Amino acid sequence: MNTELSKQYGLFGISEEVLAYGEEVSASLRERFREIDETAEYNQLKVIRAMQECGVSEACLLGTTGYGYNDLGRDTLEKVYAHIFHTQAALVRPQITCGTHALALALMSNLRPGDELLSPVGKPYDTLEEVIGIRPSKGSLKEYGISYRQVDLLENGAFDYEGIKAAIHDRTRLVTIQRSKGYQTRPTLSVARIGELIHFIKEIKPDVICMVDNCYGEFVETIEPTNVGADMAVGSLIKNPGGGLAPIGGYIAGRQDCVENAAYRLTSPGLGKEVGASLGVLPSFYQGLFLAPVVTANALKGAVFAANIYEKIGFPVIPNGTESRHDIIQAVTFGSPEGVIAFCQGIQAASAVDSFVTPEPWDMPGYDSQVIMAAGAFVSGSSIELSADGPIAPPYAVYFQGGLTFPHAKLGILKTLQNLIDRRIVSPDFCRLA
Ligand SMILES: *Cc1c(COP(=O)(O)O)cnc(C)c1O
Repeated sequence: MNTELSKQYGLFGISEEVLAYGEEVSASLRERFREIDETAEYNQLKVIRAMQECGVSEACLLGTTGYGYNDLGRDTLEKVYAHIFHTQAALVRPQITCGTHALALALMSNLRPGDELLSPVGKPYDTLEEVIGIRPSKGSLKEYGISYRQVDLLENGAFDYEGIKAAIHDRTRLVTIQRSKGYQTRPTLSVARIGELIHFIKEIKPDVICMVDNCYGEFVETIEPTNVGADMAVGSLIKNPGGGLAPIGGYIAGRQDCVENAAYRLTSPGLGKEVGASLGVLPSFYQGLFLAPVVTANALKGAVFAANIYEKIGFPVIPNGTESRHDIIQAVTFGSPEGVIAFCQGIQAASAVDSFVTPEPWDMPGYDSQVIMAAGAFVSGSSIELSADGPIAPPYAVYFQGGLTFPHAKLGILKTLQNLIDRRIVSPDFCRLA
């Protein structure tokens, strides 16, 4: 590495040894990164093509106020999403406040009292437990007389086809499939595997609605779950598809009737998609979507880099350094609270925003153990930006994701390693210390 560049790293407290190790790992990942770039290239063309075919114009970047009737930019953006996701329709709104809200909306609007919801891939994301009513909560599906059934994955991560078949009955109306492993240790599902599962379910009950929680998965592959039979794909705009620029929002892309149901629930029966002013957010929605394929690729490179950095030192990593990726989350198990804390403080110290803040473990509502979070983000809570969190409980794993640019993700990861060495959790010759 040239000396001017290593001096820049020096200003962040990164030693020459850590930098050299980082360079060695980078060099070993050239082929991997080339593949990630190729996917980004494909998806970039897909996004541009969609914008061209939907006739995106300068006028689309203007917003509306009040009721938001005839909001050209909003309506066109929804056509762009539908084009990209290969669906009949889409709902893409700043009034959808986050990923959980988008998922709750898709569920509550497409289920009716007496229906049953099935998850054939085990426990859903934490926040959905309250939406469904697995944990008692005001306004849950359960309160409205919608029951829930779950079939866990088999020990080896495979679908329990027999169990799934037995769980589907007359009242089964909607199946929810979470693509990302989230903060569990099961493998993330590839789009191809999701397609196989949907095919199996539709053979048993053709009219069941298959919804995919697509959070963290968008643009990681060249196809989305809606290309392989999903009736709805649902996600957050402060993750992948917002490209780091969207300051809020969620989307539901899917079958016309499913999306309409969601629109009537979001606004009001009779109003649906016709109202909902876009205010001033459209430029960031459009430009963020335009950048999203490359931003997702950068985050993915950061995850692969982190996996390889820590795997070689001797820490368990999920996914491992070589396996194929279907979302942007990387887990590293440090086996001690000090490791988790050193990692999160390293990520924070590499941020452009709030770098001077030192995150500490705290008692976060809804968690049994203390949690530490690192997030110096331009958009509060955005997890397509470089961020990490970890519960202070065995096995002391940290979950790391995002990075709008790869150089930023690389700096963050090297800073975490420097912290671990300075605190004698990793030896200066890059071995895990007990
Ligand atoms: C982030 C996430 C959610 C919830 O999104 P929020 O924006 O945090 O409400 C749901 N499911 C998965 C898999 C996620 O990663």
